[in-house]
Amino acid sequence: MKITDIIAALEAIAPPALQESYDNSGLIVGDADREVTGVLVSLDTTPEIVGEAIEKNCNLIVSHHPVIFSGLKQLTGKNYVEKTVIDAIRNDISIYAIHTNLDNVLDGGVNGKIAQRIGLQECEALRSHPDHPGSTRIGAGVVGKLSQPMSEEKFLAHLKDSMQVNVIRHTRMLNKPVQVIAVCGGSGSFLISDAINSGADFFVTGDFKYHEFFDADGKIVIADIGHFESEQFTVELICGIITEKFPKFAPDSSEKGTNPIIYYT
Ligand SMILES: [Zn+2]
Repeated sequence: MKITDIIAALEAIAPPALQESYDNSGLIVGDADREVTGVLVSLDTTPEIVGEAIEKNCNLIVSHHPVIFSGLKQLTGKNYVEKTVIDAIRNDISIYAIHTNLDNVLDGGVNGKIAQRIGLQECEALRSHPDHPGSTRIGAGVVGKLSQPMSEEKFLAHLKDSMQVNVIRHTRMLNKPVQVIAVCGGSGSFLISDAINSGADFFVTGDFKYHEFFDADGKIVIADIGHFESEQFTVELICGIITEKFPKFAPDSSEKGTNPIIYYT
């Protein structure tokens, strides 16, 4: 099996054309024609992840976030991005990223996975992709319904449990039952108006800034569970896409948490 076969399996679920214009999904380092010795899946690519790939004899790293985002002008190893690329090239390791194209598909994508963990039904994309106007399956975020309405307190406890998070930063509760939930893994503040317009009671997302929390404006409850935390099950998701296509091949999930944020409590 070649690296290009793994890429084809991933892109059958999340075509590269669905990535956002600012993104850099796709093969970032390496040669797609090489035979695969093993695949390591992680949320981010760092020098530690390249080290883990070497240890596990994986010559392909598949990450959600692209390590090179806006280009490189030097390759001197002075920061973690350059170090990652240099270490990968030195050790014949390819790096592939499946980022906003995986965010923008509901079926088999990042937000579908979160919706599944929270137990949402009747899911639709929160905002249709520009190339697929009116599509309910291709676009950013997701909105769906809990099978039963529950209190806001109960929903927060359910969210904490189902997404395995320790902390949720949220806006003022509105004292009404919760059933419609909008979700966007990663940084979701760009979808706040879509979440409100969808009639959602809660917007579950990450990476909200102080002033952005005001946009809840008594119309919705924003629940920020953290960027990494909201996307942590994406590793399992990517491994699942690969094993579905190649049942005899087991990709490795990274055992190193790449979340750069640590909570002091
Ligand atoms: Zn992300």
